[in-house]
Amino acid sequence: MEEIQAEGITKRFGEVTALKNVSLKIASGELFFLLGGSGCGKTTLLRCIAGLESPTEGRVFFGERDVTDLPTHKREAAMVFQSYALWPHMTVGQNIAFGLEERKVAKKEIKRRVEEALEMVKLEGYAKRGIDQMSGGQQQRVSLARALVVRPKCLLLDEPLSNLDAQLRLEMRSEIRRIVKENHLTGVYVTHDQAEALSMADRMAVMDAGEVVQVGPPEVIYRQPCSSYVAGFIGETNLIQGRAGEGKLVETAVASLLASPAVEGYRAAHGAPVLLSIRPEALEIVNPTGLDRAMTLTGRITERTYLGSIIQYSVTLGDGSVIQVTEQNPQIIRSPGEDLVALQVAPEDVTLLER
Ligand code: ATP
Repeated sequence: MEEIQAEGITKRFGEVTALKNVSLKIASGELFFLLGGSGCGKTTLLRCIAGLESPTEGRVFFGERDVTDLPTHKREAAMVFQSYALWPHMTVGQNIAFGLEERKVAKKEIKRRVEEALEMVKLEGYAKRGIDQMSGGQQQRVSLARALVVRPKCLLLDEPLSNLDAQLRLEMRSEIRRIVKENHLTGVYVTHDQAEALSMADRMAVMDAGEVVQVGPPEVIYRQPCSSYVAGFIGETNLIQGRAGEGKLVETAVASLLASPAVEGYRAAHGAPVLLSIRPEALEIVNPTGLDRAMTLTGRITERTYLGSIIQYSVTLGDGSVIQVTEQNPQIIRSPGEDLVALQVAPEDVTLLER
């Protein structure tokens, strides 16, 4: 278990600047996620932390140690890849033992540690199996065991679940979290999959174009995204343009809404252009008759998607814009049509962003 710190990391590949002055502190024992669109620099940052890439500028620290110039195996970090990177002609046990043999660990000790690693990933008794006789999920467990067998302090994972089917991915989410926590590891995990990050992370960093744009626990990133990029990247959201009015009021083309700023202390000047982010599940469809107009949008349902536990509606508002609404455990199935519906939202669910 060790704190990981990136300090002012810049990484250039010729003309391309993959990372721009990135600083991050990952607490000891934390499972930390790097998230962001394709090409934003997640993998490059992870590889700089792992020692597979040297930063052009900046330093990497593990605890008190400056590890910037140390090779991977001297950092006491182990990496797990999307591709598993296993040797198909070797057995499970031989794959796991490889790192220890390279380190010249005694045969007896290797056998004991391979068994211990297999136990950690719940594959006891599989040492003699050929890799090609293992399923995709089992192969990913083997690659986890191979990482754990060297008893690292930090576990670095690059999209480890993206080759697995949906059901296995779900199962492995809790497995990986268990492994990190039970072994008191500091975990850094790169993914495209926001559901993976939201469900597994202690904290996450959202990256855009080589920069870290927001760091926080999942619920803060989801509920208080600092920009429309983060709001759109983590979960689905409705973005509505408006202008700042009196106090917390925002005037939009379709309604006056009270909003809560995403960044604490942010106040838009009167008349300044702003953006509102409203999650589809924060809107409630109500009948418009006799309703208090505050915090209400009106429109017509133009599309409906029934998904069993939830129902999704597209509602076209007065100005022609379309807003997404989801209802959990729907009791009433509404039909698209001419009738006006009203959408209500609480001020704390309307997030104010700078435009
Ligand atoms: P993805 O999610 O698609 O894997 P990413 O966020 O992990 O993307 P990186 O792989 O870190 O992104 O790449 C960041 C930028 O650096 C990209 O523009 C990429 O093309 C570039 N890059 C990465 N590695 C190299 C390399 N070895 N040589 C040249 N350019 C590179």
